[in-house]
Amino acid sequence: MFNSELTQKLTKLKTPFYFYDLDLLDKTILSLKESLEPNYSIYYAIKANNNSKIIKLIKDHDLGIDAVSGEEINKSLNNSIKPNKIVFAGVGKTKDEIIFAIKKKIYLINCESFDEISLIDKISHELNVRTKIAIRLNPNIDSRSHKYIKTGMFDSKFGIQIGHLAQILEKIKKLKHIDLKGYHFHLGSQIDDLGVFSKLCNVSNEINTYLKNKNFNITDINLGGGLGINYEQPDLNLIPDFKSYFQIFKKNLIYFDNQKIHFELGRSIVGQSGSLFSSILYLKKSFNKHFIIIDAGMTELIRPALYNAQHHIENLSSNHKEIKYDIVGPLCESSDTFAKDYYLNKSKIGDLIVIRSSGAYGEVMSSNYNLRKKVKAYYSNELF
Ligand SMILES: *Cc1c(COP(=O)(O)O)cnc(C)c1O
Repeated sequence: MFNSELTQKLTKLKTPFYFYDLDLLDKTILSLKESLEPNYSIYYAIKANNNSKIIKLIKDHDLGIDAVSGEEINKSLNNSIKPNKIVFAGVGKTKDEIIFAIKKKIYLINCESFDEISLIDKISHELNVRTKIAIRLNPNIDSRSHKYIKTGMFDSKFGIQIGHLAQILEKIKKLKHIDLKGYHFHLGSQIDDLGVFSKLCNVSNEINTYLKNKNFNITDINLGGGLGINYEQPDLNLIPDFKSYFQIFKKNLIYFDNQKIHFELGRSIVGQSGSLFSSILYLKKSFNKHFIIIDAGMTELIRPALYNAQHHIENLSSNHKEIKYDIVGPLCESSDTFAKDYYLNKSKIGDLIVIRSSGAYGEVMSSNYNLRKKVKAYYSNELF
């Protein structure tokens, strides 16, 4: 991914920093759009990466936004995303966030409990409006990804248990200021087993028929996001296999002509376009382990510490033969480790290290633990 000309330019920059390949992002979005069926539309999960340059590309390609906080809605609007292209999810929306979303006339609020629905009804009454909502359902399907990023199983805090749907529909019928227009699922993230999505289609088909029989006019079916990316060998799948993913829905999903099918992809859109660059500060051998200590840590990329995530790591300054290293950050936490027993070209102090596939849930999750400063981001079209 990084030719020698680009590497030379990157070597001059102060590490650590994020680098985004906007050409790759553009190609990824084009490939995504080519794979869509007529009723499908994409709402980019902005929590994966909210950098303005990335939102601009999303907007230029006319994708919508899936926001999970008032500030994400606000940032989308400030970056010229139209309100009717924004949906709002989240298990704990505050009253202020709901008021903001309603006043800004966003497309749909995805609700996760009856308490939330009734608060939206009350606020809508006070504002003298009717608000379009969808209900997020918990389909109890195992996404077979890391336990912290599963969101659609019985023990998850997200969504409403399908068994409670009938009861909630009865209560919704009595509310005067909301319109139930959709239903929503999101199973989890980094899902590699596409069979999981065909199970989701079966559940959706049942719910769709059920709601039709109950005389609800459902116009929006939201199937969430979650498509995984190749962290082990990013260069083999720089652009995720969107065709196979949508093929599952094409084959299995039943919907009516007036229904719009939402997909809320985050990671699979932006993940491979971002990389975290870092330099080697020190090397040391301890109890037969070779440690490489780099200047980036869990404050810049928390996924390895939080989810045991494995990212592909390269030394761009060395082409010596590979040896086994533990690659660790500088923070005072043992979990601040990027890889254990990892084969990397024989390294020395000052070498430039790249941690690949860091475009999603990387920079957005950075913190200032140990009082570390937020690092810079550079973009492929700005380096000269
Ligand atoms: C995080 C999230 C997504 C995006 O998940 P990815 O794995 O990044 O595709 C979609 N929908 C909701 C409701 C989310 O919370």
